[in-house]
Amino acid sequence: MVIGVLALQGAFIEHQKSLAACGVDSVQVRNPKELENIQGLIIPGGESTTMGKLMNQFDLFEPIIEKAHIGLPIFGTCAGLIMLAKKIVGSTQPRLNLMDIEVERNAFGRQVESFETDLSIPDLRNEPIRAVFIRAPYIKSVSKDVKVLAKYEDKIVLAQQDNYLAAAFHPELTKDLILHQHFLNMIR
Ligand code: GLN
Repeated sequence: MVIGVLALQGAFIEHQKSLAACGVDSVQVRNPKELENIQGLIIPGGESTTMGKLMNQFDLFEPIIEKAHIGLPIFGTCAGLIMLAKKIVGSTQPRLNLMDIEVERNAFGRQVESFETDLSIPDLRNEPIRAVFIRAPYIKSVSKDVKVLAKYEDKIVLAQQDNYLAAAFHPELTKDLILHQHFLNMIR
């Protein structure tokens, strides 16, 4: 199995390290051709407006959307979650328009732009995971087809719908591999 990691900007190297720690090969994706032989795609954190611009420039929107519609599993973290959303509060910025979620960007306010917390994900494990949030979005609302996997202070921060998994935090910045493993299980 080979996982593609969108490598236009942001924390893609860290995702590749997490995948390697799971014993899985990965490739950096910067053009449509590099999407051809992957079994899953990770869209990392970064800056979603910049990422959208670069994805336009590199002609990546259409091929990713096409592959998503025929079942390519996609895991978006932080800015990657924003790219997966159908709705972004107050913004028409380019996005993949795949998950029935409404996202609020930079949602945790200036005082707490970045923080770490223990997050309980009962569907995946009894013990909580350590979650790193950096200028994070949260999911404001979901359709009934979306499974909410974790909340932080009543805000949805982890959700899954069909072949899509979205996290508002950065699982690639901690040693805990549970979310990468969960994504790999979705593929298997
Ligand atoms: N604040 C960024 C955005 O809106 C996301 C931050 C991140 O990916 N760490 O795109």
